[in-house]
Amino acid sequence: MFELFENELGNLDSILGRVKDSSLEFLENLADRPTYIADQSFVPAGLPDVGAGALASLEIFRKHYEKLMVASPGPRYWGFVTGGATPAAIAGDWLTAVYDQNTQSSQGDGDVSAMLEKETVRLLCQLLHLPDNFVGGFVTGATMSNFTGLAVARQWAGERTGRDVSRQGMAGDFVIMAATPHSSVIKSLGMLGIGSNNVVRIETSGGREALDPDDFERKLIENQSKPIIVNCSAGTVNTVDFDDIALIAALKKKHDFWLHVDAAFGGFAACSPSYRYLLEGWEQADSITIDCHKWMNVPYDSAVSLIRKEHSRLQVSTFQNSNAPYLGDPSENFSYLNFLPENSRRFRALPAWFSLMAYGRGGFEWIVENSIARARELGAYIENSTHFELLAPVRLNVVCFRLRDDIEKMSDFLKRINRRGKVFMTPTLLSGRPAVRAAFVNYRTAEEDIRIAIREMEEVWREL
Ligand SMILES: *Cc1c(COP(=O)(O)O)cnc(C)c1O
Repeated sequence: MFELFENELGNLDSILGRVKDSSLEFLENLADRPTYIADQSFVPAGLPDVGAGALASLEIFRKHYEKLMVASPGPRYWGFVTGGATPAAIAGDWLTAVYDQNTQSSQGDGDVSAMLEKETVRLLCQLLHLPDNFVGGFVTGATMSNFTGLAVARQWAGERTGRDVSRQGMAGDFVIMAATPHSSVIKSLGMLGIGSNNVVRIETSGGREALDPDDFERKLIENQSKPIIVNCSAGTVNTVDFDDIALIAALKKKHDFWLHVDAAFGGFAACSPSYRYLLEGWEQADSITIDCHKWMNVPYDSAVSLIRKEHSRLQVSTFQNSNAPYLGDPSENFSYLNFLPENSRRFRALPAWFSLMAYGRGGFEWIVENSIARARELGAYIENSTHFELLAPVRLNVVCFRLRDDIEKMSDFLKRINRRGKVFMTPTLLSGRPAVRAAFVNYRTAEEDIRIAIREMEEVWREL
């Protein structure tokens, strides 16, 4: 063996030991690490002719780049919908790299990882009070999960017009409708050849982001001549509004359509007895998107696609890897290879399995309720503030607000507060008006963090 690799293998104990020490240093000081680092001056290391080895590379990384890592798994990173990484999830993620399985077939032919993936999906469905009639698998994020669900929906709609879309392509002969779809749904429609301009927008009402039921049924009737795909939001990113899933599911009995539920983070509301009602009826969906790297606090990247078992034939028509005979007949044994977009697949289920085992129903109920409590605390402060204004009631775990009187100073406010590095939030547009979002998903966020953020907001407001 090449001497460098021989040395590396002989040195594994100290390599992993140093990785452990560096990890501890990062994780134990997360609360003090900045959420924003202005000076991202990047020193390119260049490709060496003679490799430095893992230990020396770790030192190079620590010297140049480690200090540039922001506290995105920390308690006051409220941008996007950024979950943290619990200890069990980190353990699972580390071991995923160690075991390095190519997770495909669950027939037990030398590959238990796919069986554990299926088992993880089963446990996740139990956690979320979903029945056992979905085929589920891990993908990189809710974007890919939306893509997967909508791809099978497309296959379904194609068959309604006598077309095998995955083979023959399509000529825009079906209808997709949504009220407030996530940007990744629009992106997926582009990737799927359905066309990102082709969403029939269902109206919203009462200043909310949820669909208006009357307009929805009107559009179902108007478009009856074509197969219809409905994208339902179970938690919008700005105000965590939910389309009325129970009502939509009931309309499925009267009208024929594919129901895709984008529950990327909102699905975890099912962990809370007080909020589970928001998801009532979602078990009747044809496909569901769940993100694990958000409210489940599994590190990036991790999401699940759930598609009803009765659609397995359509799912295989969409994703089968049929031009590689050496990979076997898809109808003979289950392999993720023929059910999901990727062929080679990381054992992405393992961090989620560790998390489910380690924290159980009680742990996730606590994470969800804790996030909601924190969002309410920030919301209550804003409601009583003379200089900030809530733009929507705090429905769940996102606070959407703006400056009361100085709207033109919004981006200045956000830039300043983020640059101070104590708390991180992201900008958005709500009904066309600039706003700030604070999303609560990290299990570490405590009352004290809300006090720190409020202090920051007050100080920055005075500086404006
Ligand atoms: C975050 C999010 C997505 C996209 O998820 P990624 O994990 O970033 O790919 C899709 N839908 C909703 C509702 C989301 O919150």
